[in-house]
Amino acid sequence: MATSGGGSYRNGTHRSSLKVDRPLSMNSNPKTSVKSKPLSSSGPRRSSTGSIGAATGAAKDDAGVPGRVRVAVRLRPRNAEESVADADFADCVELQPELKRLKLRKNNWDSDTYEFDEVLTEFASQKRVYEVVAKPVVESVLDGYNGTIMAYGQTGTGKTYTLGRLGEEDTAARGIMVRAMEDILADVSLETDTVSVSYLQLYMETIQDLLDPANDNIPIVEDPKTGDVSLPGANLVEIRDQKSFVELLRLGEAHRFAANTKLNTESSRSHAILMVHVKRSVKGKHSALSSENGNNPHMKTLKPAIVRKGKLVVVDLAGSERIDKSGSEGHTLEEAKSINLSLSALGKCINALAENSVHVPVRDSKLTRLLRDSFGGTARTSLVITIGPSPRHRGETASTIMFGQRAMKVENMLKLKEEFDYKSLSRRLDIQLDKLIAEHERQQKAFENEIERITTEAQNRISEVERNYEDALESSKISAIEEVSELKKLLQKESLLRKAAEEEVNSLKSQLAQWKRSEASGNSEIIKLRKMLEDEARQKEKLEGEIAILHSQLLQISFEADETRRRLDRGGSGKVPGDLDSLFSQVKLQQQEPGNGEKASIAKLFEQVGLQKILSLLESEDADLRIHAVKVVANLAAEETNQEKIVEAGGLTSLLMLLRSSENETIHRVAAGAIANLAMNETNQELIMGQGGIGLLSITAANAEDPQTLRMVAGAIANLCGNDKLQMKLRGEGGIKALLGMVRCRHPDVLAQVARGIANFAKCESRASMQGTKTERSLLIEDGALPWIVQNANNEASPIRRHIELALCHLAQHEANAKDMISGGALWELVRISRDCSREDIRTLAHRTLTSSPAFQAEIRRL
Ligand code: ADP
Ligand code: MG
Repeated sequence: MATSGGGSYRNGTHRSSLKVDRPLSMNSNPKTSVKSKPLSSSGPRRSSTGSIGAATGAAKDDAGVPGRVRVAVRLRPRNAEESVADADFADCVELQPELKRLKLRKNNWDSDTYEFDEVLTEFASQKRVYEVVAKPVVESVLDGYNGTIMAYGQTGTGKTYTLGRLGEEDTAARGIMVRAMEDILADVSLETDTVSVSYLQLYMETIQDLLDPANDNIPIVEDPKTGDVSLPGANLVEIRDQKSFVELLRLGEAHRFAANTKLNTESSRSHAILMVHVKRSVKGKHSALSSENGNNPHMKTLKPAIVRKGKLVVVDLAGSERIDKSGSEGHTLEEAKSINLSLSALGKCINALAENSVHVPVRDSKLTRLLRDSFGGTARTSLVITIGPSPRHRGETASTIMFGQRAMKVENMLKLKEEFDYKSLSRRLDIQLDKLIAEHERQQKAFENEIERITTEAQNRISEVERNYEDALESSKISAIEEVSELKKLLQKESLLRKAAEEEVNSLKSQLAQWKRSEASGNSEIIKLRKMLEDEARQKEKLEGEIAILHSQLLQISFEADETRRRLDRGGSGKVPGDLDSLFSQVKLQQQEPGNGEKASIAKLFEQVGLQKILSLLESEDADLRIHAVKVVANLAAEETNQEKIVEAGGLTSLLMLLRSSENETIHRVAAGAIANLAMNETNQELIMGQGGIGLLSITAANAEDPQTLRMVAGAIANLCGNDKLQMKLRGEGGIKALLGMVRCRHPDVLAQVARGIANFAKCESRASMQGTKTERSLLIEDGALPWIVQNANNEASPIRRHIELALCHLAQHEANAKDMISGGALWELVRISRDCSREDIRTLAHRTLTSSPAFQAEIRRL
């Protein structure tokens, strides 16, 4: 079925990622990439053109450098509360940092995959986060561009942790703001350059100065010519060292806390905005402005001072969770709307930019006006979206991910901001001219004196040299002979040394050749693997194409069957009615669009053809038609909203019938998958059991060869195992035996489902024993599951191991199981889990269970 396998791409994410130009990667090594590389291969300096006038930033025709908004996703580790509350559940996301991919889980079988520019796991250090998210932006600010760094995500997922940590108690914890200022101060020269900072809060469409909280209604001013945004009303503090900057951040943070207490809100409702203005003077030859005049010798000697202005904006956005309850936190509905206005306006602008709309509603809120040159504007922008692992917040996490995906499609146009500083140039030239005149006068006088002195000295020298020459001629004859013999000895020694060196070089050469040979063989291996990967991708594409064609064939056949039936009903009288004909072509058209098209066409089929009709095709004479029909039903059953309708219309009964009557493996696999999806609901679980589902699933399990069929059957039984009321019946009808029988197939996906079923069953039993309704030993042990459990307790596949570890802990909680567990070797697995398990919650559970069982304690003491 279409939802199986978990690797489906949605929303065209992989298509958009293909556009990514790899050299633009955020991950490029900051040391080697120095400034130009993260931007583009041509670099900012060379690509800036234009005359002096055009490059002041005022000119509209200034050629910029395009750059996409870079988006990284960061996962917060489980916190203490989640470790306890979600102990039995997997995280709602799975990260594949090496593929830059994130999988968002839908259920036990299925997940959606998304690509980002960077995927930061819960172990990512603050230093790495700074280097991939912020460093390229900071470097381009130092080069004279505007740059923006934003954090977006639900409250509590780590926006402030990522951007605003001061890290005074632990330097490794320093956030992006502190590290950015360190890099800026290290790069500028405080004699010629200035760095100044404003720190603001935006709440309910009002901008407040965090450095002077009394100043709480600051207007935004836009230069109509350049489009530059500024806040002349805000305090601008010049920064000369790191310590005073940290002090300033701390002050702002304290004011933010006080202001929010006064406004009766939490800081998660407001946006915090740090603006850093860097103004540097650039030596003539480095500037993009002067390169135009590089051939003019006059301009060269003048070396005009050029001022480069870059602005870095760091935005800690308000929490992205919805607040729709009016009156919460003591606000009226109107206030609640205003609280969210800026954030929702930001979302709308990003949607418009991602879709290349003509109109981008930047004027709708203060935040979007402030950031108008950050998104789709003239700045380099990095966005980090923060998410938590808890499955309880899956909805918020999904919407954060979609926000990041849309932002990845936004293109920016970078502009260099530099201009000539004419005033200081003229001042400098005046001073220089005066100095030169004075110097010239001094040198002229000194020159004349010197000439006189040299003339007399030369005459004295000449007569002395004449005298000395005659004496020396005599003595030099003797010493020359001695010197020659000494030089000969030296020459001999040198030639010996040279020979030794040549041998050394030869041996190094042969080593080098050997090394090159081994490198070449490694390269060819890589090329081979790469080619295999490409072949796999092509194969996958082809299969997807075939699936689409098969679906359209199914539709066609179902309509043809319909038509035939109608014709027969009407006595074979005529043509296909017009409305059916047009519906068919409409659905077929949608089918050709990739991605959502398939789902939409199935939904349409569902709506217009009718569930009854689809279900009736399950009993069709035609085997192909039956396969198509069961696939359509399975697809529908994957959506929770359809499940009740399917069961009501008798779909569950039909699916179970198919297991019984069909011999076809594909039908078994797809039907079992559909039953597994339906079995996630408690009412359906009872229905499945009531209709002999366990017996049918057991027979299917016994006959199946295909691991995917076994995975679906095991998944269905595993779901049934989690129902407290059905334990006895499930076991009585051979459910546990069937589960254990499937381990003959060693496929890890099948084993993971078997392990999940066992863990679910053991959990229900341990609940029953705690409530006192169960006193005998576990039915799992009765049915002989223990040896397999012990064997696989340390399985290298983590989903299998995790479930078995939990199962062991649950079994151990019931004292009646202790004897079998000790004799079966399970005790030692528990001891190992309590020491080595990487999940702290499971480790603690195992340890607690061990210490509270008298039988285990006695055995441990005995040995
Ligand atoms: P937000 O600003 O998004 O509301 P915070 O930055 O205040 O979230 O983080 C919420 C809590 O989670 C804080 O206690 C913070 O220390 C912790 N936290 C967030 N991210 C991480 C991380 N990557 N590693 C460890 N703790 C984190
Ligand atoms: Mg915060």
